[in-house]
Amino acid sequence: STPARRIHQMFAPWVRARPDAVALDDGSVTLSYTELDRAVNEAAQVLAGLGVRPGDRVLLVAENCVALCVSILAISALDAWSATVNARLSSREIANYIEHSGARRALYFDRVSLEAGQHAQHFGAEPVAFPLVGPISVGPLADAVPEPLFEAADEQVAALVYTSGTTGAAKAVMLTHANLMFVGENTRRMRNMVPEDVVYGVLPLSHVYGLSSLLSATLISGARLLLVSRFQPDHMARAIATQGVSVLHGVPAMYARLTDWVGRNPEGFEAPRLRVAQAGGSPLTAPVKEGFERVFGITLNNGYGMTETSPSICQTRMDPPRTDCSVGQPIPGIEVKLYDEEGAAGGAEGVGELCVRGPNVMKGYYRAPEQTAATFLPGGWLRTGDLARIEPDGAVFIVGRAKELIIRSGFNVYPAEVEQVLNAFPAVMQSAVVGRDVESNEEVIAFVEAVEECEIDMAALQAHLRENLSPYKIPARIVVAHLPAAPSGKILKAELRRMAAILDGGR
Ligand code: ATP
Ligand code: MG
Repeated sequence: STPARRIHQMFAPWVRARPDAVALDDGSVTLSYTELDRAVNEAAQVLAGLGVRPGDRVLLVAENCVALCVSILAISALDAWSATVNARLSSREIANYIEHSGARRALYFDRVSLEAGQHAQHFGAEPVAFPLVGPISVGPLADAVPEPLFEAADEQVAALVYTSGTTGAAKAVMLTHANLMFVGENTRRMRNMVPEDVVYGVLPLSHVYGLSSLLSATLISGARLLLVSRFQPDHMARAIATQGVSVLHGVPAMYARLTDWVGRNPEGFEAPRLRVAQAGGSPLTAPVKEGFERVFGITLNNGYGMTETSPSICQTRMDPPRTDCSVGQPIPGIEVKLYDEEGAAGGAEGVGELCVRGPNVMKGYYRAPEQTAATFLPGGWLRTGDLARIEPDGAVFIVGRAKELIIRSGFNVYPAEVEQVLNAFPAVMQSAVVGRDVESNEEVIAFVEAVEECEIDMAALQAHLRENLSPYKIPARIVVAHLPAAPSGKILKAELRRMAAILDGGR
């Protein structure tokens, strides 16, 4: 058979080989591979009838559900671009995304939040039916200019994916069909995925990790994707125990909460088919990794990437399993190098900015050619903005973001290192460390969130910090707070930096 050139073709072999195997299941709609194929073709016809043309952007306002997956694939079949955003956004935010993407149509899915529902209503969205997957609301036809198509089918843009907005305003990343299928295929191979696998799909498809490592990898493997709209540890534990879940993907905070829940509710819990657990998206720490491995008896693999790289850059190999918190080696087929502003490869302490080149790298930021140009070095190297060191065996350790590096009286403080020490303190559930400017120096400020129903003994925490950190790395202030997070679970550090700046009236 000819290789798939676009993402709606990536499961074609399974329509022939396993026509009745379940592809997608969201608890209310279940589609076999044959039904998925039909649903995609029919949804594409409906969308064409609604005026969607090649090169148009279509905004999808949705939580994870079967209808969302069908729409993403149907949009691919029309050579249009999907742009999925989370349904928990406010009406104003949705309007901004429609404006920024220049969407021809916005689709609002069932089970969206009140805000999105109000937005849909406000803009006069009307119900349409997608065969097999249920009702959807469609916003008015906008006067959008289609983007020109790139020459090769797989070099066309499949999706506009917004970054998490951790460091500032979210950026719209243009990912091609080839980008998404390259990473999906890599995930399949590196995690030995087979059609018998059942994947727990709670990472939002509005985020690159969900779109590529979940949807693309599952459909390429002929496996089954359970679509879950919100993370709840008890739901995840029950699915593992009773629905034959064999593959997990999640951010470290999810694994921490899952482990904690199962630890407190061990009766009747079993994981009969669980075989792979994959973490990514933010730093994995030893307590989270070891805690999970103790309770579940399998390795918690680590992976690192970003929206701009579809997202996978590094993955730990499963054999032999890694016992530390390295993000692993670069995935096969891509290259990495360290770069230092001064030009040397690898600056102080062997740390430099990680740069990457290969088939996972984005086409660019949408409608931001200058920002795109500033992100690449000559030779097509994408600057990740992350500081890393690389061990002789190729294992990569992420030490933090270049932008987040705190320079305290001339010494480098990597927030991730301080966070790891804070997180190791039993009553601390998660933490975030930021810098704040004071009198031409930078101060280390820590925000910590307590474990549910626990109070943090500040004197004991201070003693723990003194025991584990050099004095210049010890936070000048520790603020106990609920940490603001993006829908993907990532902590919004830009917001915390703003909060830090106004602590004590800004001093
Ligand atoms: P924005 O670019 O809008 O500021 P963001 O960078 O958080 O937000 P994403 O593309 O979702 O948006 O996240 C990629 C970043 O997440 C990476 O650049 C890196 O800093 C961090 N990251 C991802 N995986 C890991 C990991 N395993 N360990 C440490 N950091 C990670
Ligand atoms: Mg980023």
